[in-house]
Amino acid sequence: MGRHATKILKAALSALHYSGADGLIAPFTSGSGVIFMLHRVTPEPTKDFEPNRILKVTPDFLDSVLKQVKSAGFDIVGLDDVPNRLNAGSQGKPFAVFTLDDGYRDNAEFAYPIFKRHDAPFTIYIPTDYADGNGDLWWLTLEEAVRGLTEVTVDMDGARRHFPLKTTSEKNAGFDALYWWLRGKPESVARAITHRLAREANFDASKVCRELIMDWDEIRALAADPLVTIASHSKSHYALAKLPEYKVRAEIADSVARLEKELGRPCRHFSFPYGAESSAGEREFAIAAELGMKTAVTTRKGLLHASHKDRLTALPRLSLNGDYQDPRYEAPVFLLVGNESQGLPQDYEKDCDLLVKMPMMGKADSLNAAMACAVMAYEVLNQRRRPS
Ligand SMILES: [Zn+2]
Repeated sequence: MGRHATKILKAALSALHYSGADGLIAPFTSGSGVIFMLHRVTPEPTKDFEPNRILKVTPDFLDSVLKQVKSAGFDIVGLDDVPNRLNAGSQGKPFAVFTLDDGYRDNAEFAYPIFKRHDAPFTIYIPTDYADGNGDLWWLTLEEAVRGLTEVTVDMDGARRHFPLKTTSEKNAGFDALYWWLRGKPESVARAITHRLAREANFDASKVCRELIMDWDEIRALAADPLVTIASHSKSHYALAKLPEYKVRAEIADSVARLEKELGRPCRHFSFPYGAESSAGEREFAIAAELGMKTAVTTRKGLLHASHKDRLTALPRLSLNGDYQDPRYEAPVFLLVGNESQGLPQDYEKDCDLLVKMPMMGKADSLNAAMACAVMAYEVLNQRRRPS
């Protein structure tokens, strides 16, 4: 297993610990479980500028997670089994569920053979527009545009902002500033602006979806294996909490009906796009249940306990990727903080056990080194104050 993969695995397993459990096995003695979330599974090497690489793991990494989860005594089960497992309460064995969002083509090419070898069921959540080749993966469009452009000017809330995009660090800074600003805007704005940037960079934004996402024939071929559950990830991949209620209903109901028609079988599982508090809340959980979903998953972090049997359309997951709050900072910790424009020197970076990044959500695109250091030091100390 590569060094990068080892780091991610450490982060994922420490996330289990971080969720209030002491060690990997202890929290699972009472019939509880975990739903893992993945996106892309690909051996392709990381590029210099690749801000969305957090969505990727390697096939080797997936293989070692499956081995580790099995050897830790988990049953790997499908989503259909989750209600029964939760009902079994403390009588049941610990269980793990594997889910992959968005329907990336690499799931069939690289993830499927690994799950098959382990005889492990898994679920892929598909936005139906994506399978039609009309998906708008604006965060990847933004990455590709920034990669291709050497500068960009964007009107951000009335202020014209110019970003030089010649070097990797300029591209990273420009991407972060634009991405987090767009995340705060209505999604139609994010989509319109990233389409404009794609035109400036001379590519068609829709090619991102067609290149990366499985079409219906590929999905049907995968679905033929009983190990695979194909489930809904809405129609157009909007943050549902920001839509009026009738649109939320349509996003769920239309996608479920389409999947059932294309695959000729019932669809009873749903994943909320983005899935954080701001994208899916009580209104959405209730609508999913009302529309007949047996389970629905969020990206809220947590393990499954008996109490989730009454919250089956609001299930937490654990991402197998992470940000600075995911890893467990075991003592002793030596923090290295990169400077604002260049990051850490490569020589230092390659010796680190773990590389973490703070998401920027305001107008500022970075913190100065002292501020970043203070945030990290706070997180390290805060974790140690928390009972584990
Ligand atoms: Zn998604």
